[in-house]
Amino acid sequence: MSQTAGPEDLVGRGNREGARLFREWFDGLGRAAAEDRGGAYVFVMGSLGELLSTFDLPLVFPEINSLQTAVRRVAHEYLNEAEDMGYSPDICGYVKADIATQMRKGELPMGRIPKPSIAVLTNACNTYIKWAEIWERMYKMPAYVLDVPGSRQDGQPARRGATGFDRDRKYVAAQLRELITLLEEVTKKKFDIDRLREAMGHANTMSRGWKRVLDLNASRPSLFNALSDGTIFLGVCNGFRGHPAGAKFFDELVEEMEYKRANGIGTLFDEKFRLVFVGVPCYPIFRRFTELFSEHGGTFVNSTYLWFASGGSNLGFEYDLADPLESLAEGLLIGVSDAMDSMFFPTHTLAKMVDDYAVDGVVYHPVKSCRTTSTGQADSRRALMEMRDVNSLFIESDMMDRRVVSEAQLKNRIDAFFEGLVSRRQQAAAGLV
Ligand code: SF4
Repeated sequence: MSQTAGPEDLVGRGNREGARLFREWFDGLGRAAAEDRGGAYVFVMGSLGELLSTFDLPLVFPEINSLQTAVRRVAHEYLNEAEDMGYSPDICGYVKADIATQMRKGELPMGRIPKPSIAVLTNACNTYIKWAEIWERMYKMPAYVLDVPGSRQDGQPARRGATGFDRDRKYVAAQLRELITLLEEVTKKKFDIDRLREAMGHANTMSRGWKRVLDLNASRPSLFNALSDGTIFLGVCNGFRGHPAGAKFFDELVEEMEYKRANGIGTLFDEKFRLVFVGVPCYPIFRRFTELFSEHGGTFVNSTYLWFASGGSNLGFEYDLADPLESLAEGLLIGVSDAMDSMFFPTHTLAKMVDDYAVDGVVYHPVKSCRTTSTGQADSRRALMEMRDVNSLFIESDMMDRRVVSEAQLKNRIDAFFEGLVSRRQQAAAGLV
Protein backbone atom coordinates (compact mmCIF):
# COMPACT_ATOMS: atom_id res chain seq x y z
CA MET A 1 0.00 0.00 0.00
CA SER A 2 1.34 3.49 -0.79
CA GLN A 3 2.70 5.35 2.21
CA THR A 4 -0.07 7.91 2.54
CA ALA A 5 -3.12 5.79 1.66
CA GLY A 6 -4.99 4.14 4.51
CA PRO A 7 -7.80 1.65 3.80
CA GLU A 8 -10.41 4.39 4.11
CA ASP A 9 -8.64 6.36 1.32
CA LEU A 10 -7.94 3.33 -0.76
CA VAL A 11 -11.43 2.01 -1.47
CA GLY A 12 -12.97 4.17 -4.18
CA ARG A 13 -9.70 5.97 -4.90
CA GLY A 14 -9.74 4.89 -8.55
CA ASN A 15 -13.13 6.53 -9.12
CA ARG A 16 -12.12 9.72 -7.34
CA GLU A 17 -8.75 9.96 -9.07
CA GLY A 18 -10.30 9.10 -12.43
CA ALA A 19 -12.76 11.99 -12.03
CA ARG A 20 -9.92 14.32 -10.98
CA LEU A 21 -7.76 13.35 -13.95
CA PHE A 22 -10.70 13.82 -16.26
CA ARG A 23 -11.13 17.40 -15.00
CA GLU A 24 -7.39 17.98 -15.36
CA TRP A 25 -7.49 16.70 -18.92
CA PHE A 26 -10.34 19.05 -19.79
CA ASP A 27 -8.63 21.99 -18.13
CA GLY A 28 -5.67 21.32 -20.43
CA LEU A 29 -7.94 21.19 -23.47
CA GLY A 30 -9.56 24.45 -22.37
CA ARG A 31 -6.15 26.12 -22.14
CA ALA A 32 -5.20 24.83 -25.60
CA ALA A 33 -8.48 26.19 -27.02
CA ALA A 34 -7.98 29.57 -25.34
CA GLU A 35 -4.44 29.80 -26.76
CA ASP A 36 -5.70 28.68 -30.19
CA ARG A 37 -3.38 25.65 -30.15
CA GLY A 38 -4.75 22.81 -32.25
CA GLY A 39 -5.26 19.31 -30.93
CA ALA A 40 -4.95 15.81 -32.33
CA TYR A 41 -8.42 14.37 -32.86
CA VAL A 42 -8.24 10.63 -32.21
CA PHE A 43 -10.44 7.62 -31.47
CA VAL A 44 -10.48 4.96 -28.79
CA MET A 45 -9.70 2.11 -31.20
CA GLY A 46 -6.07 2.99 -31.97
CA SER A 47 -5.42 6.48 -30.59
CA LEU A 48 -1.61 6.35 -30.71
CA GLY A 49 -1.61 8.68 -27.69
CA GLU A 50 1.93 7.59 -26.85
CA LEU A 51 3.19 8.88 -30.21
CA LEU A 52 1.09 12.04 -30.42
CA SER A 53 2.07 13.20 -26.93
CA THR A 54 5.71 13.36 -28.06
CA PHE A 55 4.66 16.14 -30.44
CA ASP A 56 2.94 17.98 -27.56
CA LEU A 57 -0.43 17.66 -29.23
CA PRO A 58 -3.37 17.82 -26.80
CA LEU A 59 -5.46 14.68 -27.29
CA VAL A 60 -9.13 15.19 -28.15
CA PHE A 61 -11.38 12.11 -28.20
CA PRO A 62 -14.62 13.20 -29.91
CA GLU A 63 -16.29 9.91 -28.92
CA ILE A 64 -15.64 10.60 -25.23
CA ASN A 65 -16.72 14.23 -25.51
CA SER A 66 -19.96 13.20 -27.18
CA LEU A 67 -20.84 10.53 -24.64
CA GLN A 68 -20.27 13.10 -21.91
CA THR A 69 -23.08 15.24 -23.36
CA ALA A 70 -25.39 12.25 -22.89
CA VAL A 71 -24.20 11.54 -19.33
CA ARG A 72 -24.81 15.21 -18.55
CA ARG A 73 -28.25 14.96 -20.16
CA VAL A 74 -27.80 17.59 -22.85
CA ALA A 75 -27.09 15.30 -25.82
CA HIS A 76 -30.53 15.93 -27.32
CA GLU A 77 -29.68 19.62 -27.77
CA TYR A 78 -26.57 18.71 -29.74
CA LEU A 79 -28.32 15.97 -31.74
CA ASN A 80 -31.16 18.33 -32.68
CA GLU A 81 -28.73 20.97 -33.91
CA ALA A 82 -26.96 18.46 -36.17
CA GLU A 83 -30.24 17.00 -37.42
CA ASP A 84 -31.46 20.52 -38.22
CA MET A 85 -28.39 20.81 -40.45
CA GLY A 86 -29.49 17.66 -42.31
CA TYR A 87 -27.66 14.84 -40.53
CA SER A 88 -29.88 11.77 -40.40
CA PRO A 89 -31.39 10.51 -37.11
CA ASP A 90 -29.93 7.10 -38.01
CA ILE A 91 -26.23 7.91 -38.09
CA CYS A 92 -23.80 7.65 -35.19
CA GLY A 93 -24.95 9.95 -32.39
CA TYR A 94 -21.36 10.70 -31.44
CA VAL A 95 -20.76 12.25 -34.87
CA LYS A 96 -23.81 14.47 -34.61
CA ALA A 97 -22.95 15.69 -31.11
CA ASP A 98 -19.47 16.52 -32.37
CA ILE A 99 -20.79 18.43 -35.39
CA ALA A 100 -22.89 20.57 -33.07
CA THR A 101 -19.85 21.00 -30.80
CA GLN A 102 -17.81 22.27 -33.75
CA MET A 103 -20.62 24.66 -34.72
CA ARG A 104 -20.53 25.92 -31.11
CA LYS A 105 -16.78 26.57 -31.48
CA GLY A 106 -15.84 23.64 -29.25
CA GLU A 107 -18.19 24.41 -26.35
CA LEU A 108 -19.13 21.37 -24.26
CA PRO A 109 -20.62 21.06 -20.77
CA MET A 110 -17.15 20.10 -19.46
CA GLY A 111 -15.37 23.05 -21.06
CA ARG A 112 -14.06 24.06 -24.46
CA ILE A 113 -12.02 21.82 -26.77
CA PRO A 114 -9.44 23.04 -29.29
CA LYS A 115 -9.88 22.78 -33.04
CA PRO A 116 -8.04 19.92 -34.77
CA SER A 117 -4.55 20.42 -36.20
CA ILE A 118 -4.63 16.82 -37.36
CA ALA A 119 -6.92 13.81 -37.08
CA VAL A 120 -5.41 10.35 -36.69
CA LEU A 121 -7.72 7.41 -37.13
CA THR A 122 -7.87 3.75 -37.97
CA ASN A 123 -10.20 1.64 -40.06
CA ALA A 124 -11.63 -0.03 -36.90
CA CYS A 125 -14.93 1.77 -37.53
CA ASN A 126 -15.95 2.97 -40.99
CA THR A 127 -17.69 5.96 -39.39
CA TYR A 128 -14.29 7.26 -38.24
CA ILE A 129 -13.30 7.82 -41.86
CA LYS A 130 -16.40 9.74 -42.91
CA TRP A 131 -16.30 11.70 -39.62
CA ALA A 132 -12.72 12.84 -40.24
CA GLU A 133 -13.70 13.93 -43.74
CA ILE A 134 -16.11 16.41 -42.14
CA TRP A 135 -13.25 17.98 -40.13
CA GLU A 136 -11.08 18.09 -43.25
CA ARG A 137 -13.81 20.09 -45.00
CA MET A 138 -14.38 22.35 -41.99
CA TYR A 139 -10.78 23.06 -41.02
CA LYS A 140 -8.67 22.16 -44.07
CA MET A 141 -6.38 20.10 -41.83
CA PRO A 142 -4.93 16.67 -42.61
CA ALA A 143 -6.51 13.41 -41.51
CA TYR A 144 -4.32 10.31 -41.54
CA VAL A 145 -6.12 6.96 -41.80
CA LEU A 146 -4.09 4.00 -40.55
CA ASP A 147 -5.17 0.88 -42.37
CA VAL A 148 -4.75 -1.91 -39.80
CA PRO A 149 -5.34 -5.45 -41.08
CA GLY A 150 -7.92 -7.40 -39.11
CA SER A 151 -7.91 -11.06 -38.12
CA ARG A 152 -8.63 -13.25 -41.12
CA GLN A 153 -10.54 -15.89 -39.21
CA ASP A 154 -12.16 -16.63 -35.84
CA GLY A 155 -9.73 -18.03 -33.30
CA GLN A 156 -6.68 -16.81 -35.23
CA PRO A 157 -5.88 -13.39 -33.77
CA ALA A 158 -2.99 -11.29 -35.01
CA ARG A 159 -0.13 -12.38 -32.78
CA ARG A 160 3.58 -12.90 -33.25
CA GLY A 161 4.12 -16.17 -35.09
CA ALA A 162 0.69 -16.15 -36.79
CA THR A 163 0.56 -16.45 -40.58
CA GLY A 164 1.07 -13.09 -42.24
CA PHE A 165 1.78 -11.30 -38.97
CA ASP A 166 5.23 -10.00 -39.95
CA ARG A 167 3.95 -8.75 -43.28
CA ASP A 168 1.04 -6.96 -41.58
CA ARG A 169 3.36 -5.45 -38.95
CA LYS A 170 5.66 -4.08 -41.66
CA TYR A 171 2.64 -2.61 -43.47
CA VAL A 172 1.57 -0.81 -40.27
CA ALA A 173 5.15 0.30 -39.51
CA ALA A 174 5.46 1.89 -42.97
CA GLN A 175 2.29 3.88 -42.31
CA LEU A 176 3.63 4.98 -38.91
CA ARG A 177 6.75 6.37 -40.58
CA GLU A 178 4.54 8.32 -43.00
CA LEU A 179 2.46 9.59 -40.10
CA ILE A 180 5.56 10.76 -38.22
CA THR A 181 6.66 12.80 -41.25
CA LEU A 182 3.20 14.36 -41.39
CA LEU A 183 3.28 15.10 -37.65
CA GLU A 184 6.64 16.83 -38.08
CA GLU A 185 5.15 18.99 -40.82
CA VAL A 186 2.02 19.85 -38.86
CA THR A 187 3.74 20.63 -35.53
CA LYS A 188 7.08 21.90 -36.93
CA LYS A 189 8.74 19.65 -34.34
CA LYS A 190 11.37 17.01 -34.92
CA PHE A 191 10.40 13.47 -33.97
CA ASP A 192 12.20 12.45 -30.75
CA ILE A 193 12.55 8.68 -30.44
CA ASP A 194 13.68 8.92 -26.82
CA ARG A 195 10.49 10.75 -25.87
CA LEU A 196 8.53 8.03 -27.67
CA ARG A 197 10.43 5.35 -25.76
CA GLU A 198 9.60 7.08 -22.49
CA ALA A 199 5.90 7.42 -23.38
CA MET A 200 5.79 3.76 -24.43
CA GLY A 201 7.26 2.82 -21.05
CA HIS A 202 4.31 4.58 -19.37
CA ALA A 203 1.91 2.81 -21.75
CA ASN A 204 3.51 -0.51 -20.74
CA THR A 205 2.85 0.19 -17.06
CA MET A 206 -0.73 1.10 -17.91
CA SER A 207 -1.30 -2.07 -19.95
CA ARG A 208 0.18 -4.27 -17.25
CA GLY A 209 -2.02 -2.62 -14.62
CA TRP A 210 -5.25 -2.63 -16.63
CA LYS A 211 -4.88 -6.30 -17.55
CA ARG A 212 -4.27 -7.15 -13.88
CA VAL A 213 -7.32 -5.11 -12.79
CA LEU A 214 -9.51 -6.87 -15.36
CA ASP A 215 -8.24 -10.27 -14.24
CA LEU A 216 -8.77 -9.42 -10.57
CA ASN A 217 -12.44 -8.81 -11.24
CA ALA A 218 -12.90 -12.57 -11.61
CA SER A 219 -12.84 -12.57 -7.79
CA ARG A 220 -16.01 -13.36 -5.93
CA PRO A 221 -17.38 -10.89 -4.97
CA SER A 222 -16.32 -8.85 -7.98
CA LEU A 223 -14.38 -5.71 -7.14
CA PHE A 224 -15.72 -3.15 -9.59
CA ASN A 225 -18.66 -2.79 -11.94
CA ALA A 226 -17.40 -3.09 -15.51
CA LEU A 227 -20.14 -0.77 -16.74
CA SER A 228 -20.07 2.13 -14.27
CA ASP A 229 -16.62 2.08 -12.63
CA GLY A 230 -15.11 0.49 -15.73
CA THR A 231 -16.11 3.47 -17.89
CA ILE A 232 -14.21 5.83 -15.56
CA PHE A 233 -11.12 3.61 -15.78
CA LEU A 234 -11.48 3.52 -19.58
CA GLY A 235 -11.44 7.32 -19.68
CA VAL A 236 -8.02 7.34 -18.01
CA CYS A 237 -6.84 4.48 -20.20
CA ASN A 238 -7.52 6.54 -23.31
CA GLY A 239 -6.89 10.11 -22.20
CA PHE A 240 -3.63 9.38 -20.36
CA ARG A 241 -2.08 6.78 -22.61
CA GLY A 242 1.71 7.23 -22.61
CA HIS A 243 1.48 9.73 -19.76
CA PRO A 244 3.10 9.26 -16.31
CA ALA A 245 -0.22 10.15 -14.62
CA GLY A 246 -1.91 7.29 -16.50
CA ALA A 247 0.79 4.82 -15.45
CA LYS A 248 0.52 5.93 -11.81
CA PHE A 249 -3.26 5.70 -11.89
CA PHE A 250 -3.18 2.07 -13.00
CA ASP A 251 -0.45 1.12 -10.53
CA GLU A 252 -2.65 2.54 -7.79
CA LEU A 253 -5.76 0.92 -9.18
CA VAL A 254 -4.08 -2.48 -8.95
CA GLU A 255 -3.23 -1.68 -5.33
CA GLU A 256 -6.86 -0.76 -4.60
CA MET A 257 -8.26 -3.87 -6.25
CA GLU A 258 -5.72 -6.16 -4.57
CA TYR A 259 -6.73 -4.64 -1.24
CA LYS A 260 -10.43 -5.12 -1.95
CA ARG A 261 -9.85 -8.71 -2.95
CA ALA A 262 -7.74 -9.47 0.13
CA ASN A 263 -10.48 -8.04 2.34
CA GLY A 264 -13.47 -9.45 0.49
CA ILE A 265 -14.80 -5.97 -0.40
CA GLY A 266 -17.10 -6.30 -3.40
CA THR A 267 -18.63 -3.65 -5.57
CA LEU A 268 -22.07 -4.69 -4.25
CA PHE A 269 -22.85 -5.46 -0.61
CA ASP A 270 -24.74 -8.53 -1.72
CA GLU A 271 -23.64 -9.84 -5.10
CA LYS A 272 -26.19 -12.30 -6.41
CA PHE A 273 -25.61 -12.47 -10.16
CA ARG A 274 -22.50 -11.99 -12.23
CA LEU A 275 -23.07 -10.54 -15.69
CA VAL A 276 -21.21 -9.67 -18.87
CA PHE A 277 -22.25 -6.66 -20.95
CA VAL A 278 -22.01 -6.65 -24.75
CA GLY A 279 -22.10 -3.34 -26.64
CA VAL A 280 -21.98 0.36 -25.77
CA PRO A 281 -23.57 1.65 -22.53
CA CYS A 282 -26.88 3.52 -22.36
CA TYR A 283 -25.44 6.93 -21.54
CA PRO A 284 -28.69 8.96 -21.53
CA ILE A 285 -29.68 7.15 -18.31
CA PHE A 286 -26.23 5.89 -17.41
CA ARG A 287 -26.52 5.62 -13.62
CA ARG A 288 -30.12 4.38 -13.68
CA PHE A 289 -29.27 1.76 -16.30
CA THR A 290 -26.68 0.21 -13.99
CA GLU A 291 -29.12 0.41 -11.05
CA LEU A 292 -31.72 -1.57 -13.00
CA PHE A 293 -29.30 -4.49 -12.64
CA SER A 294 -27.71 -3.77 -9.26
CA GLU A 295 -31.14 -3.51 -7.59
CA HIS A 296 -31.44 -7.24 -8.30
CA GLY A 297 -27.94 -7.94 -6.98
CA GLY A 298 -26.54 -8.10 -10.52
CA THR A 299 -23.15 -6.66 -11.36
CA PHE A 300 -21.15 -6.55 -14.57
CA VAL A 301 -17.88 -8.38 -14.08
CA ASN A 302 -16.62 -7.70 -17.60
CA SER A 303 -17.80 -6.35 -20.94
CA THR A 304 -16.94 -6.10 -24.60
CA TYR A 305 -16.74 -2.32 -24.03
CA LEU A 306 -13.67 -2.76 -21.83
CA TRP A 307 -12.34 -4.90 -24.65
CA PHE A 308 -12.74 -2.78 -27.79
CA ALA A 309 -12.54 0.68 -26.16
CA SER A 310 -9.34 0.10 -24.15
CA GLY A 311 -7.01 0.99 -27.00
CA GLY A 312 -5.39 -2.43 -26.70
CA SER A 313 -4.36 -1.96 -23.05
CA ASN A 314 -6.78 -4.69 -21.95
CA LEU A 315 -4.43 -7.30 -23.46
CA GLY A 316 -1.50 -6.38 -21.26
CA PHE A 317 0.68 -6.07 -24.36
CA GLU A 318 4.05 -4.49 -23.54
CA TYR A 319 6.27 -2.72 -26.05
CA ASP A 320 9.87 -3.64 -26.67
CA LEU A 321 11.55 -0.35 -25.78
CA ALA A 322 14.75 -1.41 -27.55
CA ASP A 323 12.94 -1.16 -30.90
CA PRO A 324 10.23 1.48 -30.39
CA LEU A 325 8.91 2.04 -33.88
CA GLU A 326 8.62 -1.61 -34.90
CA SER A 327 7.14 -2.41 -31.52
CA LEU A 328 4.64 0.46 -31.76
CA ALA A 329 3.51 -1.00 -35.09
CA GLU A 330 3.19 -4.44 -33.50
CA GLY A 331 1.17 -3.06 -30.57
CA LEU A 332 -1.11 -1.09 -32.88
CA LEU A 333 -1.70 -4.11 -35.10
CA ILE A 334 -2.47 -6.38 -32.15
CA GLY A 335 -4.60 -3.82 -30.28
CA VAL A 336 -6.72 -2.60 -33.19
CA SER A 337 -7.27 -6.03 -34.74
CA ASP A 338 -8.24 -7.33 -31.30
CA ALA A 339 -10.77 -4.48 -30.95
CA MET A 340 -12.22 -5.42 -34.35
CA ASP A 341 -12.38 -9.06 -33.23
CA SER A 342 -14.79 -7.98 -30.48
CA MET A 343 -17.26 -7.17 -33.25
CA PHE A 344 -16.46 -9.75 -35.91
CA PHE A 345 -15.43 -12.76 -33.80
CA PRO A 346 -16.64 -12.22 -30.22
CA THR A 347 -18.06 -15.62 -29.37
CA HIS A 348 -15.04 -17.60 -28.21
CA THR A 349 -13.80 -14.75 -26.04
CA LEU A 350 -17.28 -14.30 -24.55
CA ALA A 351 -17.44 -18.03 -23.81
CA LYS A 352 -14.08 -17.74 -22.05
CA MET A 353 -15.37 -14.77 -20.03
CA VAL A 354 -18.39 -16.83 -19.00
CA ASP A 355 -16.04 -19.55 -17.74
CA ASP A 356 -13.28 -17.42 -16.18
CA TYR A 357 -15.62 -14.99 -14.43
CA ALA A 358 -18.26 -17.58 -13.42
CA VAL A 359 -20.94 -15.61 -15.26
CA ASP A 360 -24.69 -16.15 -14.73
CA GLY A 361 -25.96 -14.03 -17.60
CA VAL A 362 -24.92 -12.11 -20.71
CA VAL A 363 -26.63 -8.82 -21.56
CA TYR A 364 -26.63 -7.78 -25.22
CA HIS A 365 -27.28 -4.09 -25.79
CA PRO A 366 -27.42 -3.12 -29.46
CA VAL A 367 -27.92 0.61 -29.94
CA LYS A 368 -29.62 2.49 -32.76
CA SER A 369 -26.76 4.78 -33.61
CA CYS A 370 -23.68 2.56 -33.44
CA ARG A 371 -24.05 -0.05 -36.13
CA THR A 372 -20.38 -0.98 -35.84
CA THR A 373 -20.81 -2.55 -32.42
CA SER A 374 -24.49 -3.54 -32.78
CA THR A 375 -24.63 -5.37 -36.10
CA GLY A 376 -24.04 -9.04 -35.50
CA GLN A 377 -25.03 -9.09 -31.83
CA ALA A 378 -28.09 -11.27 -32.52
CA ASP A 379 -25.94 -13.83 -34.35
CA SER A 380 -23.28 -13.68 -31.67
CA ARG A 381 -25.92 -14.35 -29.04
CA ARG A 382 -27.23 -17.39 -30.90
CA ALA A 383 -23.69 -18.75 -31.32
CA LEU A 384 -22.85 -18.22 -27.65
CA MET A 385 -26.06 -19.90 -26.52
CA GLU A 386 -25.01 -22.95 -28.51
CA MET A 387 -21.60 -22.97 -26.83
CA ARG A 388 -22.58 -22.20 -23.23
CA ASP A 389 -25.62 -22.90 -21.08
CA VAL A 390 -26.03 -19.36 -19.79
CA ASN A 391 -28.99 -16.97 -19.62
CA SER A 392 -29.00 -13.95 -21.90
CA LEU A 393 -30.92 -10.74 -22.38
CA PHE A 394 -31.24 -8.70 -25.59
CA ILE A 395 -32.30 -5.10 -25.01
CA GLU A 396 -32.16 -2.23 -27.47
CA SER A 397 -31.80 1.48 -26.79
CA ASP A 398 -29.18 4.09 -27.62
CA MET A 399 -25.93 5.51 -26.33
CA MET A 400 -26.91 9.14 -27.06
CA ASP A 401 -30.50 9.59 -28.13
CA ARG A 402 -32.96 9.69 -25.25
CA ARG A 403 -35.86 9.62 -27.73
CA VAL A 404 -35.28 5.89 -28.17
CA VAL A 405 -34.55 5.08 -24.53
CA SER A 406 -37.59 3.86 -22.61
CA GLU A 407 -36.66 3.23 -18.99
CA ALA A 408 -40.02 1.56 -18.29
CA GLN A 409 -39.60 -0.90 -21.16
CA LEU A 410 -36.01 -1.63 -20.20
CA LYS A 411 -37.05 -2.22 -16.60
CA ASN A 412 -39.75 -4.72 -17.62
CA ARG A 413 -37.30 -6.72 -19.68
CA ILE A 414 -34.56 -6.58 -17.06
CA ASP A 415 -36.93 -7.59 -14.24
CA ALA A 416 -38.08 -10.58 -16.30
CA PHE A 417 -34.46 -11.52 -17.00
CA PHE A 418 -33.71 -11.64 -13.28
CA GLU A 419 -36.85 -13.67 -12.63
CA GLY A 420 -35.39 -16.19 -15.05
CA LEU A 421 -32.04 -16.15 -13.26
CA VAL A 422 -33.70 -16.66 -9.87
CA SER A 423 -35.86 -19.47 -11.17
CA ARG A 424 -32.88 -21.18 -12.75
CA ARG A 425 -31.00 -21.01 -9.48
CA GLN A 426 -33.96 -22.47 -7.59
CA GLN A 427 -34.20 -25.29 -10.08
CA ALA A 428 -30.48 -25.94 -9.73
CA ALA A 429 -30.82 -26.02 -5.93
CA ALA A 430 -33.62 -28.55 -6.32
CA GLY A 431 -31.42 -30.63 -8.64
CA LEU A 432 -33.70 -30.01 -11.63
CA VAL A 433 -31.10 -28.58 -14.01
S1 SF4 B 1 -20.37 4.06 -35.14
FE1 SF4 B 1 -19.91 3.23 -33.08
S2 SF4 B 1 -17.74 2.68 -33.09
FE2 SF4 B 1 -18.11 4.04 -34.84
S3 SF4 B 1 -17.67 6.11 -34.10
FE3 SF4 B 1 -19.86 5.81 -33.78
S4 SF4 B 1 -20.01 4.97 -31.68
FE4 SF4 B 1 -17.85 4.79 -32.29
